[in-house]
Amino acid sequence: MAEDTINASPEQTPPNFIKLIIEEDLASGKNGSRVATRFPPEPNGYLHIGHAKSICLNFGLAATYRGTCNLRFDDTNPTKEEVEYVDSIQSDVRWLGFDWEDRLYYASDYFDRLYDFAVELIRRGKAYVCELSAEEIRRYRGTLTEPGTDSPYRDRPVAENLDLFTRMRAGEFEPGSHVLRAKIDMRSGNLNMRDPVIYRIIKASHHRTGDRWCIYPMYDYTHCLSDSIEGITHSICTLEFEDHRPLYDWVLDSLPVPCHPQQIEFARLNLTYTVLSKRKLIQLVTSGAVKGWDDPRMPTISGLRRRGVPPVAIRNFCERIGLAKRDSTVDMALLEYAVRDELNREAPRVMAVLRPLRVVIDNYPQDQVEMLTGAYHPEDESLGTRDLPFSRVLYIEREDFMEEPPKKFFRLAPGREVRLRYAYYLTCVGVVKDETTGEVREVHCTYDPETRGGWSKDGRKVKGTLHWVSAAQALKSEVRLYDRLFTVENPAMEREGKTFLDHLNPDSLEVLTDCRVEPSLAQAAPESRYQFERLGYFCVDARDSIPGKPVFNRTVTLRDSWAKIARRR
Ligand code: ATP
Ligand code: MG
Repeated sequence: MAEDTINASPEQTPPNFIKLIIEEDLASGKNGSRVATRFPPEPNGYLHIGHAKSICLNFGLAATYRGTCNLRFDDTNPTKEEVEYVDSIQSDVRWLGFDWEDRLYYASDYFDRLYDFAVELIRRGKAYVCELSAEEIRRYRGTLTEPGTDSPYRDRPVAENLDLFTRMRAGEFEPGSHVLRAKIDMRSGNLNMRDPVIYRIIKASHHRTGDRWCIYPMYDYTHCLSDSIEGITHSICTLEFEDHRPLYDWVLDSLPVPCHPQQIEFARLNLTYTVLSKRKLIQLVTSGAVKGWDDPRMPTISGLRRRGVPPVAIRNFCERIGLAKRDSTVDMALLEYAVRDELNREAPRVMAVLRPLRVVIDNYPQDQVEMLTGAYHPEDESLGTRDLPFSRVLYIEREDFMEEPPKKFFRLAPGREVRLRYAYYLTCVGVVKDETTGEVREVHCTYDPETRGGWSKDGRKVKGTLHWVSAAQALKSEVRLYDRLFTVENPAMEREGKTFLDHLNPDSLEVLTDCRVEPSLAQAAPESRYQFERLGYFCVDARDSIPGKPVFNRTVTLRDSWAKIARRR
């Protein structure tokens, strides 16, 4: 659990504008000096890294100020919501390291109370049943520059509204024929205040309430009341809801509610080289551009998890990017930095050869296998060591050998000596080539038995150190090299009739099926993360690995190769 414990005191984490508001409220005794937040996803898709920002913020504030954070599903639209999403969201929040304890709520749990509140609004003359069509409602609403027009149904008597609303609930009317609207101000400068619809008829089964309801409350009406019912003190949401705040407050001021939470907006997370909108992510899944919500190229929490991103890296990333009141875009390189930073700390080092080239050591005894020792981590001895079998036939990386090397190539070449990591010095004495293609099939070498462990008493220098595996003992493995899903920084920006789907990176996945990994990895647990020396960070795919036969996903390369590409452009 150590890795996933979130403990933060106000002093440990940098201040941000929301903390300042909370600290003022605590100091003045507002809300009984309580802090209660919530994370309110709509179960209509999988969570993405943008949601992680909101999760870290809401649960983080609760942890910092010894408050509580609820998980609440905003499940008011039965046509788009699914149990699969409800389950994945819970699993993702938990995996990120947060705990809602016994505070798991659903807006649908409040349908009865929300209905009663609506009746109360009607009684107070603050809501009416409207029979304009959706199109007419839009037209009557006016525009940013023109005021709206009152609906002809606006001044219905309370009794008639009560009767119609009861009949809406009883299923007497068709969808779209009647809606319940808040009676606010058709001339308001804020379009959200021009008599917004608060209930509509939808004849669809709900994942929790089944067919009990055929009218469903709208988001703006539901959200503030749910917050109030749960005793939320600070209702934190993204900037696009700033213009909805007057409505949030109007509903709460118009009803006898338990408390009036304060809505506070912050800038949502945008990331380069990806899209963060459930609508677009659904399109990636349904169009087959990726292999599902948890495809390791997806910016979803489940995709990042499968890719090998540690939860603590996501939390650190969210902490580092901070909180702003204005929208901006964060460079994907920053997320990758947080991932490398954490993996560098935690990941055991192992050896794997992605594109194998056979090496025969002519002067090594035919059937001998000796065990060498390699440390799992250069800085963390507690990770221990593992045995590395060494024998006459090895594999090295194909690109670590060149027959006619350029000047600065410090790896293996005819006549050159290199070091094999944890093993011996090795000198190339010959090559075997395919007669027809000319391709190098095998490299012949000699080793210096005096250099066991990878160093020589005479102090002679070798410039290159190569990773390797012993051919007979290595495990044949599939390795998937993932790269960014899009080739442009802002794929969501529409340009020249192109959509984000036109900017997919054709090289976002390369599957290598003939890789060899060191035998210690045979029993590697699903989701365990490693550094393949000199190659990058990899994790054991949780879906496709079977015991004794791990499949690896590349999480991230050791260095940022995109920075170079970006500079060249
Ligand atoms: P999307 O735009 O991806 O469809 P959403 O806002 O519709 O997301 P919700 O399920 O309503 O998704 O979001 C739950 C919470 O997560 C909300 O409080 C929302 O403000 C927050 N959230 C969603 N996207 C982001 C983001 N990119 N950055 C920060 N917070 C986000
Ligand atoms: Mg939403």
